[in-house]
This record gives sequence, C-alpha cells and structure tokens, in this order.
Amino acid sequence: MNNFFVILAAGKSKRFNKKMAKQFYNYKNKEIIDHSIDKSLDSRLFKKIVVVSNNLNHFKKKKYPKIVKIIKGGKERSDSSLNALKYIKQFKPKNVFIHDAARPNFSIKLLEDIIKNLKKNKAVVPIINSKDSIKYKIKNHIFNLNRNNAILTQTPQAFRFKDLFNLAINQKQKINDEATLFINTNHKIKFIRGENKNNKITYLEDINTSKTYFGIGFDLHRLIKNKKLYLGGLKIPFHSGLKGHSDGDVILHAIIDAILGATRKKDIGTYFPNTKKFKNVRSPKMLKPILDNLNKFNFFINNLDINLICEQPKVSKYRDKIINSISNLMGLNKDLINLKGKTVEKLGLIGKEKAIACEVIISITKYD
Ligand code: ZN
Repeated sequence: MNNFFVILAAGKSKRFNKKMAKQFYNYKNKEIIDHSIDKSLDSRLFKKIVVVSNNLNHFKKKKYPKIVKIIKGGKERSDSSLNALKYIKQFKPKNVFIHDAARPNFSIKLLEDIIKNLKKNKAVVPIINSKDSIKYKIKNHIFNLNRNNAILTQTPQAFRFKDLFNLAINQKQKINDEATLFINTNHKIKFIRGENKNNKITYLEDINTSKTYFGIGFDLHRLIKNKKLYLGGLKIPFHSGLKGHSDGDVILHAIIDAILGATRKKDIGTYFPNTKKFKNVRSPKMLKPILDNLNKFNFFINNLDINLICEQPKVSKYRDKIINSISNLMGLNKDLINLKGKTVEKLGLIGKEKAIACEVIISITKYD
C-alpha cells in the first residue's frame, strides 16, 4: 500500500463569486475540502494524504489524523502539484493520486477501481462523456466535435510516481490536469469510467445550497349549531360548524400557521386579523396568498402531517376526501399529505363534541 493521495486546494476560486475560498465553503454539512480528505482516509488505501493549500492558517484549528499533511501551494495549479510531488519524493512512493478539492463527490469505489487498474498501467484517469454538444473554436473558425468522441477527464487521476515526477519536473507550460502531461508526451493512459456525480464545483450555483425548515401549527375552534363545518376546505355534513371570524377551518388555519412558522413569518393573526375585511372569509382564500408567497421565494413543501383532534366526525370516513381537498388547494401531491384522527376519550370540550382542534407539522425546503 505505497499509495499517496494529493489534494490540490490552493486555487483562488475566481469564478466562485464568494469571499471565502471555495474549498472551505460548507457543502453537505462539511467543508468541501473535508469530503476529499475524509473519503481518502476512509478508503484506507493511502500511506499519506497531502493537502496543498495557500491558507495554512485555516488548517491550524483542524484535527486530522497524522497521515494527513498540509503543505504550501504554488502560484498555479501545476506549481502546487509539483510542490506535493517534491514533498512526497522522500517517502519513495510507488503510486500517487492527484485530486482537485473542488470534486467532493467521488466514491471510494472509484479509488478502488483506479488502484486495480494501476497494477498494469502507469497512468489511470477517470473519464465521462459529455452531456452537452461541444464546439471547438480556433481563431474565427468553429468546428463541431462529435460528442461520442469527446471525453471529459476527472480527478482523482493516478500515476506511477516516478513517471509523473519526471514529466512534471520538466514541464514548461501551464496544465489543467496531470493527464495533459502524459498526452503531450505520448505516454499511454488507461482511461476508466468516471462518475457523473463526481462533478467539479466551479460556480456557486454548482452547490445545492438548499435549506430545510420545519413549522408547527395548532388551532382550535368551538362547535356551534347552525354553521357549516369545513375541514381542509371540504364541507362535511355534521350537526354543528366551527365558530370563528372566518369559516373556522381548523385544518387550514393550522396549515397556514405551520407554513408561517417554517418561513419565520409570525402567525395567522398578523395577516388575517379579526377585522370586517375578513369577516366570514373562507379559509382557502386565506391559504392562497400564503402559498403564493412560498412559490415566490422558492420554498418547496416536502410533506405535511396533520393531527385532527375530535370525537366526531370520524376522521377515517373523510380522510381521503379531506386529503384530496388539501392536495387540490395547495397544488401538493397527495402522497405528501398525511392525516391522522385523534379522539380524546370523551374528555373536555373536544370529547363532548363542543370543539375541534388540529395540529400540523410541515417541512419546507428553500432553494437558492
Ligand atoms: Zn382558526
């Protein structure tokens, strides 16, 4: 196991549009760089993991195992790569992997595939085919490239140390990856299937910066005679209806409060006070502007869980109809809505069929 893993993280991330260097940006609950460090550690394939960075201070607070070594990078990518090769030369490595920190999504299986192929080859490089059509421009001429013949190289790329070192030390021009050195000097490379998910993070948009929030809602209304009963926007035949300034639909009110909770927008009373304007308003009309706001700000509902607390009517009898109604009102797939009925052992106002209560929890994701 005389393999060394070099992670290049000295880039300035000019295209990333963030004050913070890209490799230190939080992604899937850890810094981008740490995905590569952790995976190379977990693979147990490497004697040493060498991180090349121009911000050594950043690593001072980190606690990596001893086999992780942070060294100073160079001006260009190829300078940083050469720095690492010069550093590890003293350990007489057999194989070296060079990897860009901007690719945090490779799998350990890819590392294992590369190692397997290194047994019979001096250079192993993962590739994928392009999903986009590619044109090639030389001066003012544009050529169509056959997409099937165009290959995209990824990292980690792995090499016999000796061969790579000799090529790297003699390189004259800037290179974007080590495979270029082998290609420019007509050395053979074994290309293996890369991973589509092993994409390179270049722009901030490449990172899914979605955040998920939860909201809780609760409502209770008294039941009174001579009023229609609405639950989840559905009219239900019953001896009483829910008293309130509006139609008293406890389910929709709890949903509204849950949404407002998840988006941190106060409560239903803030938007629908007990004024003349909202006298006898139907609750779907209250829900609509709240949902419009969700869409406007790129929030998406993941799921909705509802507890309807009442002795009567029997929830099981109306469950599908209520879920259908909510699904239609919210434009939300009914598979994402759950409705549970709870009775209260005939206790209190609810138990004596004098009130109905509802609680709702909602999960919402915001996409930037
Ligand atoms: Zn209410």
